[in-house]
Amino acid sequence: MKPQNKRCFFAQERQHIIASPYKLIIRLIQMMLAVVIMLSLGACQSVNANAIPLQPISDDLANDTAIQLNLIAVGDNLIHGPIYRQARERTTDGSFDFRPAYQYMIPYLEQADLALINQETPLGGTQLGLSSYPMFNSPQELGDQLIELGFNMISHANNHVLDARQQGFFNTIEFWRSRSLQKPVIMAGIAADESDDQLQILEVKNLKVALLAYTYGTNGLKLPSSSSGIVKYINDDLMKQELAEAKAAADIVIVSIHWGQEYQANANTEQKRIAQLLADNGADIIIGSHPHVLQGVEMLTVNASEQNSRQVPVFYSLGNFISAQNRPDTMLGGMAKIEMSYDLLDKSISFKEIGVIPLVTDYTGSYKNITVYPLSAYTPEQAKAHGVHRSYSNFSLEYLQKIFTERIPLEFQIY
Ligand SMILES: [Zn+2]
Repeated sequence: MKPQNKRCFFAQERQHIIASPYKLIIRLIQMMLAVVIMLSLGACQSVNANAIPLQPISDDLANDTAIQLNLIAVGDNLIHGPIYRQARERTTDGSFDFRPAYQYMIPYLEQADLALINQETPLGGTQLGLSSYPMFNSPQELGDQLIELGFNMISHANNHVLDARQQGFFNTIEFWRSRSLQKPVIMAGIAADESDDQLQILEVKNLKVALLAYTYGTNGLKLPSSSSGIVKYINDDLMKQELAEAKAAADIVIVSIHWGQEYQANANTEQKRIAQLLADNGADIIIGSHPHVLQGVEMLTVNASEQNSRQVPVFYSLGNFISAQNRPDTMLGGMAKIEMSYDLLDKSISFKEIGVIPLVTDYTGSYKNITVYPLSAYTPEQAKAHGVHRSYSNFSLEYLQKIFTERIPLEFQIY
C-alpha cells in the first residue's frame, strides 16, 4: 500500500515555505516568465554561441552539492499488556511478534532515511517480568522488531524510563548499545554512566545526524544516588550545552522532547518557550511527545531580522504511535514527515515538505487486534467496530478527521 498524499505542500525557495494557493499561483507565473526568458535566450544562442549561458530555473535541479534526506517521526510507543500479550499469542515458542501491529507503517518506513520513535516503555526484558500501566516493562524483541521495521533513532527520555527500576533501566541501555554496534541505530535520552554519555550521531548519506532527547520528569522515580545512570531531564543550561556540542559535531541536529500536559489539544506556554530556546540554540527539527494526543505544528524563526535567519519545524506532540488507551482522542496519532535538502556548500537545510500523516490505533472489543493504520486507509466500518465506540458513541471516521483538521494547520496536513 502506497501512502496517499492527498494534500501536501512544497517549498520552492530555500528557507521559505510556500503555503497558500495565492503564493503557488505567483510561483507558477514566475516559472512561466522564466520559460519565456529562457526561450528568448535560447534564440539568441542559436545566433551567437558566446551569448549568456542558460540559467537553470531552480538551482536544485543542477545542484549536486545538496543531499536529500527524508525523516519520519512518530510519538509514544506505549506497550500496554494487551499489545505484548497479542505479540506473544502470535508465536508458539513464547517469543513475541509485534510486527503485525505495525504492518501498515512499512511503506512509510521504507522511504525514510531517518525514522525516530519515542519508546515510551523500558525494554527491561522478560527476565524482570513484563508489566503494563502504571509501571511498564516490555520485552526486548520489541526493540529488534522496531529496527527491522526501519526505526533508526530511538528516544528513551520519557516519564516511564525508570518504571522497571534500575535493572530495567540498565537492561534497556545495554540492549540499544549492543544493537548500535551491529546496526545503524542510535538511542538517546539515557546513559549508563559518564563514559556511555556520548553524543548520539547517525551517519546517513555521508551526513552526521545528531539526536538529543529530554524529558520533563520520570513520574517521581529517581535512580539511587549511588547509581551511575543518567537521565536527560529538561534543563535550559544542559540543553544549550549539548546543542552547542551537537552543532559542532554534526550536520543536522534533531531534538526529541517529552513535555506538555496529557490530553491537552494545544501546546502550553512552557512548551513554546522551550521550543524557541532549542531552535535559537541550534536545533534543526523538534519532535515532541507525551500528551498522548496530537498537538499543533509550527515553523519557528531564528534570527528573524538577520541574513542567516532560518526556520525550525516543531511538532508539539505526535500523540500515540500505538497504545491500548481508551480515550477516543488518544486513538489518533501523527507521523511527522519531513523532506529536506542539505546544502554542502553553505551547510544549510531547506525543507521541501513538512507535515503530519494522521494515524489511528484500531482495536475491537476487549482490546483485540491492536493495529496502527494510516487514517487514509481506515474505513467508517472499522471506526464503528472500534473498541472505544461502545463507551464513546461519537467515535467515527469523521470524528478522527475532525480532530486532525482542528489540531494540525492546513498547510501541514498530509492526508
Ligand atoms: Zn509520557
